[in-house]
Amino acid sequence: RGVAAIVGRPNVGKSTLFNRLLGERKSIVDDTPGVTRDRIYGDVEWLTQTFRLIDTGGIQLEDQDFGDEINMQVDIAIEEADVIIFLASAREGVTADDLAIARKLRKAGKPVVLAVNKADNEKLQMEVYDFYQLGLDDPITLSASHGIGIGDLLDRVMEKMPVRDLKPYEGVTSFCVIGRPNVGKSSLVNAILKEDRTIVSNVEGTTRDAIDTPFFYEGREYMIIDTAGIRKRGKIWENIEKYSILRAVSAIERSNVVLFLIDGEKGIRAQDKHVAGLAHEAGKGVIIVYNKWDAVEKDEKTMQQITKKIREEFKYLDYAPVAFVSALTGAKVQNLIPLIDQVHEMCTLRVPTNVLNDVILDAQMMNPPKPHNGRQLKIYYSSQVSVEPPTIVLFVNDPELLHFSYTRYIENRLREAFGFTGTPIHITARKRS
Ligand code: GDP
Repeated sequence: RGVAAIVGRPNVGKSTLFNRLLGERKSIVDDTPGVTRDRIYGDVEWLTQTFRLIDTGGIQLEDQDFGDEINMQVDIAIEEADVIIFLASAREGVTADDLAIARKLRKAGKPVVLAVNKADNEKLQMEVYDFYQLGLDDPITLSASHGIGIGDLLDRVMEKMPVRDLKPYEGVTSFCVIGRPNVGKSSLVNAILKEDRTIVSNVEGTTRDAIDTPFFYEGREYMIIDTAGIRKRGKIWENIEKYSILRAVSAIERSNVVLFLIDGEKGIRAQDKHVAGLAHEAGKGVIIVYNKWDAVEKDEKTMQQITKKIREEFKYLDYAPVAFVSALTGAKVQNLIPLIDQVHEMCTLRVPTNVLNDVILDAQMMNPPKPHNGRQLKIYYSSQVSVEPPTIVLFVNDPELLHFSYTRYIENRLREAFGFTGTPIHITARKRS
C-alpha cells in the first residue's frame, strides 16, 4: 500500500482535507483503547485502490527548542510518503512559507501534488495562477470544506503513486520490536543479533530508508524490521509520539510477529497502551517482552504477579505470550527466537474444515447461544478462510444474532483445541445461502 502525506503551513485546511478524504472511515470500528484518539493517519479508498494518508499537521512539537514545526512536518512527509500533497490557500496567496516548503520539496525530488485550497468562488479560483511560481506541477483548485476538486486531487495522487510490492518477506520470519522510548528496543535488537548469528547484510528498504536486517539462526532465515527513520534521526524524534506511532505502524505492517516491549524497571505506563493497541490492531502475532528483568527486585512470586498485572492492563492481548528478558545482560534473550517461531507457526496454522467443524459444533452443543428476542443463533458449519491472522467464517441463520460474548466463547474453544498462541483470531458470521 502506498503512502501519501499532506503538508502545508498552518490554517490552509490540512485537517479539513484529511477528514474529507477519510470520510467516515476515520472512525473505523476500533475499540482498542488509546488508538483512535487524534488519529493522524488512515486509509483512503479511491476507485479500486487504497493508500494510507498522513496529516503531518497533526504532528506537533511541544518544545520550541526542537526547531521549526513546518520544517519537521515536511521532513516527516519526505521520509514517510510516496506522494506529497502540498496544500496552499487561494485566500492568502503565495506566502514566504509556501516558497520555503516548495523549495524543500523540489530538492527532495519526491512526487508532489500541489493543491490550492479555499478556492470557494471564481474570483479565488483565478488566484491559482500565482502558484505556478512555486515551480511544481500544475496546481489543482480545491475547496476542502465544500468538497470541490476532491476527485481531481485523488486522481492526481493515484497517478503519481509508485507501484510497489509491500508484501512481507516471503519464506522468512520477520519481526519488529516496538515500545515507548527507552524501553530497550535497540538494546534488544543488538542482543538478538549478537547471539552468534550470521548477519547477512543490511537491506536498504524498498522505500523510506527502512533498514531491515536479515540473519540466520539454526539454518533458518529471519528479518528484523527496523523502525528506522526514528533511529536515524535519534531520540528527539522518537519522543514525538505521533511520529513514533507512524513508524511503528509501518514496521508492524512488514512483520509477521511483533515484540511489544515493556520497561521492567519503570513498569507499565500509559503510553504502553497505545503501543499495545497498535500491535493488537494489526492482526499480527504478538509477544509481550518484559525487559530489564535484571533491574527488577524479585522473589519467586514476582513473575507471576507481573504476568497477572500485564493480563489486567492489556486484556485484549490475552493471546500473547509473555517473556521476561534482559537485553543488557542477554539473559533469556535466546528464548525469543523459538517463541517467535512458535507464534509465527500459529499465525499461519490452517485447521482442516472437518476438524474445525467438530470443535465448533461441539462448542455449540455444550453451550448453545442464548436466544435474543426469541431468536437463537444457529451455526451450521464453518470454514477457515485465511491465515495471518487465522480468520474463521461461521455460516449461520442470521449474522445479527452472533454476539460478542459468543464470539469470545468460540474463540476460547478454538484456542483450547488448537493453541493459536500469540495470534489473534478473527471470527465473522455469514448467512448460510
Ligand atoms: P530504546 O529507546 O527503546 O531503543 O532503548 P535503548 O535500547 O536505547 O535503551 C534505553 C536504556 O535502557 C539504555 O540506557 C540501556 O542501556 C538500558 N537498557 C536496555 N535494556 C536493558 C536491560 O535489560 N536492563 C537494564 N538494566 N537496562 C537496560
